[in-house]
Amino acid sequence: MSDEGIVLDGAKVFWRTLLPRLKAERWILGLSVVLAVLAGFAGIHVLAILPFWIVLVAAVLNRSAPVAQPVPEAAPATVEKSMDPLIPVLNALDMPVIVVAADETVLFQNLAAEKAFGTIPKDTYLSARVRSPGILDMVRETIATGKINQIEHTERLPSDAIYVVRVAPADTGDEGPAQRVFLLTYRDISQARRIDRMRSDFVANASHELRTPLASLRGFIETLQGPARNDPKAQEKFFAIMHEQATRMSRLVDDLLSLSRLELKSHIAPDDTVDLVPLLGHVRDSLAPLARELDVTIALDVPDAPVFVQGDRDELVEVFENLIENACKYGQEGKRVDVRLTGGEGHQAEVTVKDHGPGIPAEHVPRITERFYRVNVEASRSKKGTGLGLAIVKHILTRHRARLLIHSEVGKGTIFTVRF
Ligand code: ADP
Repeated sequence: MSDEGIVLDGAKVFWRTLLPRLKAERWILGLSVVLAVLAGFAGIHVLAILPFWIVLVAAVLNRSAPVAQPVPEAAPATVEKSMDPLIPVLNALDMPVIVVAADETVLFQNLAAEKAFGTIPKDTYLSARVRSPGILDMVRETIATGKINQIEHTERLPSDAIYVVRVAPADTGDEGPAQRVFLLTYRDISQARRIDRMRSDFVANASHELRTPLASLRGFIETLQGPARNDPKAQEKFFAIMHEQATRMSRLVDDLLSLSRLELKSHIAPDDTVDLVPLLGHVRDSLAPLARELDVTIALDVPDAPVFVQGDRDELVEVFENLIENACKYGQEGKRVDVRLTGGEGHQAEVTVKDHGPGIPAEHVPRITERFYRVNVEASRSKKGTGLGLAIVKHILTRHRARLLIHSEVGKGTIFTVRF
C-alpha cells in the first residue's frame, strides 16, 4: 500500500487547512471586524489596532480547534471492522492507547486510557479532549506525513504524571490510505523520573555532607602547615577537631554503605529466628554510657516469656539502637526513655520507644525517614547525627515485613512503634 495519497509537506498542510480554520473561527474573526468598525467610529485609526489584529490572527491560526484535515475521506465502518480483533489486545495493555482516525476523531480508547483520562465518546474530535497543543500538533503532523512522532508530556490531573506520548500510523487494510488509523500511546515514565530525581538528590546530599568535614580538615591542615606550625597548643586543639571531623566522615560512609547493602537485599526476607527480650536488653546495655552522659534513664519493660520474630539479629540491634539513641539524644530534656515490648505466644510482637522530649512538629513526621531529612540540621550534627539513621531503620523493617509507626506531640514527646 502506498503512502503517496496523504503525504503532504508542511506548507501544503498550512494552506489546505487555512480555509477550514478560518471557517471554524468565524465567530472570533467576526468579533474582531466589529471591534475594528467600533474603533473606526471612536476615531481610532485602523492602523493603530494593527498589532491587535496580528496577534489575533496568529492566535487563531495556532489554536487547536477541531478542524477537519484535508486527507482522503476515511471509511470508518471498514476501519472499525478491521480493528475489531485488536480491541481485546489493546484492552489487555496496561498502557493508555487512543486510536484516532485520519479526520482527527477518536475511534477507540482502551481501558487503561479510560482509567487515566476518563471516557472519550466515540467520534469526538481529539482536540475536544486532549488539550495539549504539543500532542495535537504532533498528531496532525503524523496524519499529514505518516511519520512516527513522540513528545514528553506532563498530565496534571487527576495526579501529576509524566508520559512519553507517541503517535504512529497503523494500516488496518489494503484498500488505500483511508484505511489508516493512528495509535496514540502514553508511556508513563513518572516512576523512572522520580527514581532519577531521588538518585541525583541522594548523590548531591551525600556529597554535600562529606564536603563540609572535608573542607574543615583541609582548612586545619593548611593552618597547621602555616600559622600554627610552631604552636603546640593550637596543634593539640586542631588535631582534636580534625579527629572529630574524620570520625564524622567515617560514620557517614559507614551509614551509606549500610544503606546500599540493605538496598541490595531488600527483597529477601531474613530467615533466622530472634528473641527480642535479650536483644533489647543488649541494646539498652550498649547505650548505657550514652544515656549516662546525657542524664537519661532507659526504662525497659519486657515480658517474662521470650518473644520470637523472624529476623536478622544484627539488623534488629541496629534498628533499636537507632531508635533508642535518637530518643535519648533528641528527647534528652524528658530525662526518661521508655522501651516496651509486647507480644509473644501467638500475639503480634510490638516494640515502642517513647521519649518525653520536645516532639516532632506534624509537618516533619511523614518525611523524617527520608535520607538526610532532619528537623534541625545543626541540632542533628551537634548530636553526631548523619540524617541516615531512620532511613536505615525503615529499610531494615521493610525487609523484615515490619512497620514503623511514628506518633509525636509537640511539647510532650515522641513514640516510635515497630510492629512485626
Ligand atoms: P540523625 O542522624 O539526624 O539523628 P535520623 O534519621 O536518625 O538522623 O533522624 C532524622 C531526624 O528526625 C533527626 O535529625 C531529628 O530531627 C528527628 N528525630 C528523630 N528521632 C527523634 C525524636 N525521638 N525526637 C525528636 N526528633 C527526632
